[in-house]
Amino acid sequence: MSANTHLFSCLKDNFGVLVHDPATGATAAIDAPEAAPIEAALAATGWRLTDILVTHHHGDHTAGIPELKRRHRCRVTAPRAEAARIPEVDVTVREGDTVAVGSLAARVIETPGHTAGHITYWFDQEKLAFVGDTLFSIGCGRVIEGTPEMMWTSLLKLRKLPDDTQIYCGHEYTDANIRFARTIEPNNSALAARADVVTKQLANGEPTIPTSIGEEKQANPFLRADVAAVAAAVGLAGQPAADVFAEIRKRKNNF
Ligand SMILES: [Zn+2]
Repeated sequence: MSANTHLFSCLKDNFGVLVHDPATGATAAIDAPEAAPIEAALAATGWRLTDILVTHHHGDHTAGIPELKRRHRCRVTAPRAEAARIPEVDVTVREGDTVAVGSLAARVIETPGHTAGHITYWFDQEKLAFVGDTLFSIGCGRVIEGTPEMMWTSLLKLRKLPDDTQIYCGHEYTDANIRFARTIEPNNSALAARADVVTKQLANGEPTIPTSIGEEKQANPFLRADVAAVAAAVGLAGQPAADVFAEIRKRKNNF
């Protein structure tokens, strides 16, 4: 089983991505920030849109749904807890559910914190995870509707995925995230190596994702709140990881 992906930019700094099943021709858009770039991506690939998989209710992830659905009659899958705030939902899902895209299957992982009902779509066979605004490359989403504890628990669920899982997130924030991460772990060599790669990618006009769980575990301070050196770096040696996470998130909010 294999899937094809096609990544592109939407709005100011959102990512759009298509997941395509060559066996059946089914294609899912992960979120729908705006219709036009998704139409352009479909035209470029020749793929037919059958599904939209929504991670959370924010407008910069859902605004394109009505126009896409009108044109393609695609099926819209969304988190049950947020379905009332998302346009034109056909199927609602929660933790443990499976979503089919043709012959591909995504498992639903509830990852609340950024929003209260945020979900991640994990195609375990294809080693792909679409994490919306929960985990970013070297960062994480703002904790808007949940608590820091809730967000930390969600990040731990993602951290448990296999190291070679490719991570697609909702925004191109990697450069600013690295600048912040270096204030927490200035001597992290994995972070320094990642910074070099990202500098080259951005200079070439390339996206900085997908990243992987293995890479993020080494370099993303928000996945490292239970590392003793990270707790010490924010003055919380020996304190609970959720408290360390909350402090790192607070510092990022003010960075
Ligand atoms: Zn959001």
